[in-house]
Amino acid sequence: MTSLTTETYGVINPSTEEVVREVELYGTPETDEAIQRAAVAFETWRRLNPADRAALLRRFAAAVDADLENLARLEVANSGHTISNARWEAGNVRDVLNYYAAAPERHFGRQIPVAGGVNITFHEPLGVVGIIVPWNFPMPIAAWGFAPALAAGNTVVLKPAELTPLTALRLGELALEAGIPPGVLQILPGSGSIVGERFVTHPAVRKVVFTGSTRVGQHIMAGCAEQVKRLTLELGGKSANIIFADSDLERAAAAAPGGVFDNAGQDCCARSRILVQRNVYDDFMALLEPAVKAVTVGDPGLETTTMGPLISAKQRQAVAGYVPAGAPIAFQGTAPEGPGFWFPPTVLAVDDARDRAFREEIFGPVVTVTPFDDEADAIRLANDSDYGLSGSIWTADVGRALRMARAVDSGNLSVNSHSSVRYSTPFGGFKKSGLGRELGPDALDAFSEVKNVFIAT
Ligand code: NAD
Repeated sequence: MTSLTTETYGVINPSTEEVVREVELYGTPETDEAIQRAAVAFETWRRLNPADRAALLRRFAAAVDADLENLARLEVANSGHTISNARWEAGNVRDVLNYYAAAPERHFGRQIPVAGGVNITFHEPLGVVGIIVPWNFPMPIAAWGFAPALAAGNTVVLKPAELTPLTALRLGELALEAGIPPGVLQILPGSGSIVGERFVTHPAVRKVVFTGSTRVGQHIMAGCAEQVKRLTLELGGKSANIIFADSDLERAAAAAPGGVFDNAGQDCCARSRILVQRNVYDDFMALLEPAVKAVTVGDPGLETTTMGPLISAKQRQAVAGYVPAGAPIAFQGTAPEGPGFWFPPTVLAVDDARDRAFREEIFGPVVTVTPFDDEADAIRLANDSDYGLSGSIWTADVGRALRMARAVDSGNLSVNSHSSVRYSTPFGGFKKSGLGRELGPDALDAFSEVKNVFIAT
């Protein structure tokens, strides 16, 4: 392998603004070499018998488990995630690997009755898969791509976000230590416009999995069209948290901050638009205020911290742009002063669906609260968005919960909770939130082609 002679990137700890490590970046020649290695490795990986591929994925999962605390501490330093979140994220990588380790031996084709012979289908791997990861959940989003891709018999080149490459690099080392052959999973730190772009243009990369902004996703989709390249897109969100008067208001108010301020709001599934039935609006706000003020913002390495910093100075500036002087702040939590990209949890009372804060993905700890009158009004407001990723419905009426869940144009809804991503269930968005689904029992279908074979008898 050529030594990386291109630039380096100083990875910053967002809580301290200090450099954690210099990372060498891949340029186009190194990216091409890695893709070539992946193409060579594919020829043996695809032929490995399914039980052996499964065993290697389980060993990879065990290596992640043994390194869990180290991975979590690395994420705290690189991304400012709270230690409890970071432990969950590393554990999620292990769980996703274990879940898809069962898949190689169960990726069944079908025997379809036809005249004159036998008809069978096979799932063939695609080849080299390029995975492009954003900075908000570096570990889980990487694993949601590479675990099913590898299980289906593909090899993977993965580009972490410029800001957050450290845990991805460590996962690449753990894969090798676990016995995953060289070339099967390679981590390529580098910029989107060089490494990411090359995944799109290189003909040996047969599929791109992109998680990130809708703007870049649209650009990648257009690029993939040139080669009719397979593509999964997981993009932005502006999800609604819909609270009816008949719900357990105390529970809904207590859960609302976690539904939007988790990971400092840098979550594509953040319930960043709270819609509250008008006749309980004041009661809800009175319950929400203490819950928001109880969010503990500070050193993410402490067990007691519930919210860390934003990822960068640029991100903080973008978020602050939604809270200008004179913004309709209902109430705000607190945040540390001094070094670190801190921003306090902020609640805006917004009664106009044309408001920027209501329409645009803020990707920070800012939530709008808007009243609605009835079910029809709640559906109209919830669906008044270019996005459709997730959402929550709080009500004591099962019929209403189901009517609302069917009516909201969104890929992942939860009733009386804010859960949205489980490795065993499908995840993905409607409208400009994305294309295709990740996770769940069918994820391998997104990493294989169906081949139909007829045998004349
Ligand atoms: P981004 O689109 O700027 O970058 C995402 C990744 O794409 C990075 O690795 C970046 O280097 C790369 N990239 C940038 N330009 C590229 C190009 N021209 N070609 C190829 N790759 C390129 O997004 P971000 O700021 O890192 O992440 C935040 C966004 O991600 C938010 O909009 C958020 O909603 C979205 N997101 C969505 C999901 C989901 O599952 N739907 C999950 C997490 C984040």
